[in-house]
Amino acid sequence: MRVEIVAVGTELLLGQIADTNGQWLGEQLAAAGVDSHFHQVVGDNLERIVSAFRIGLSRSDALIVCGGLGPTQDDITREAIANVMGVELERREDLIEHIAAMFRSRDREMPANNLRQADVPVGADVIEQRLGTAPGLICPLGTQVIYAVPGVPYEMTEMFERAILPDLRRRMALAGESGVIASRVIKTWGTSESALAEALAERIVEIDAQRLPVTLAFLASGIEGLKVRVTARGNDDAHVVSLLDEEATRVEGILRERLGDVIFGYDEETMESAVAALLESRSLTLAVAESVTGGMICARLVNVPGASHWLKGGVVAYDSQVKYDLLFVPEGPVVSADAAIAMAKGVAKQLGADVGLGITGVAGPTPQEDLPPGTVFVGVALGDSATAAALRLPGDRVRIRDYATISALNALRQHLSTR
Ligand code: ATP
Ligand code: MG
Repeated sequence: MRVEIVAVGTELLLGQIADTNGQWLGEQLAAAGVDSHFHQVVGDNLERIVSAFRIGLSRSDALIVCGGLGPTQDDITREAIANVMGVELERREDLIEHIAAMFRSRDREMPANNLRQADVPVGADVIEQRLGTAPGLICPLGTQVIYAVPGVPYEMTEMFERAILPDLRRRMALAGESGVIASRVIKTWGTSESALAEALAERIVEIDAQRLPVTLAFLASGIEGLKVRVTARGNDDAHVVSLLDEEATRVEGILRERLGDVIFGYDEETMESAVAALLESRSLTLAVAESVTGGMICARLVNVPGASHWLKGGVVAYDSQVKYDLLFVPEGPVVSADAAIAMAKGVAKQLGADVGLGITGVAGPTPQEDLPPGTVFVGVALGDSATAAALRLPGDRVRIRDYATISALNALRQHLSTR
């Protein structure tokens, strides 16, 4: 099964926006073990879109088209698909009602233009729209298929996961390419892509040489770290699950041995949910003292449902005087390991928490206390034990603060899992 991605939009060609949809889809297809040999980008022009589809269909089994399903005159993906299918568009009453209801729920009139979003090529199936107005399309052409999804990234990703990936898997099974596929994402933080690749290189060669029904893929997710997706194929669910468990356990073992405590979670888990699970399992409460991150750590922790069970609260101690007065940090330099630990102890004491987390550093752009931007200290205090981590983080002010936030959560996670 070869799948080709076609991103539609003149703004992509002009470089006004980047094709992050293509990037995301490419990542997902690779991780699902689906071949994708070509990506196309085409502007909002009927003739050229039709030609892109024809070229795509001449070399791929399926096209995933994103963009151009909106209500305006330059949104012509529907027309182009009907053209290559050699069918008419039909306006579907049930879709009109869905779109109208969407507008009503937002207390707005439905512009007549939006009726176009109820047009469907004859013979196509609809992917119900749950987040916006444009439905997606599954358009069969003999044994081939064109999937169309809106360009809006969160609408596109939701439809891909809910409708397109399952449909692709069903087609792959029909084509005898696989029985059942299952995958697990192992999430890491604090290592590099090359270190991960190096650690797993031997295993990947082994998998190849023995033609094992598993694949390992690396996925970068920016500030949130690096992921390893383990995918297994087998004849039935039980077989696949045991293959997947076995391979994932092997990969985890290799990573722990070669890189240390870099795994923070699986699949949908986040750094904050990992911290939450550790605190909850040990019935510990947490208080946070933030300087350089200015509240971002607390904001992430509050993302976790049930945070009130273990989060006491936080103090944004930005000015040095606040650190001295409120958190009992000894007067003197405030960007140091000692200051971070003092902040952690101080905030735990003030808020009556079992665990204190303190962070202080230089966000830039100018140095502070003779330390360059990116210098960050994280302190964790739990009972009598306290540790500090010294970090040198890259990037500008925004990036440094984002990195500092997740680094602090990771330091807390590591401290909690060893003590
Ligand atoms: P809408 O109903 O919003 O008009 P649409 O299906 O017509 O949806 P487009 O008009 O092509 O989609 O794009 C909508 C928005 O989605 C764009 O303004 C852009 O911000 C974003 N977008 C479109 N294509 C991409 C892409 N390939 N990568 C990232 N973002 C995209
Ligand atoms: Mg549009």
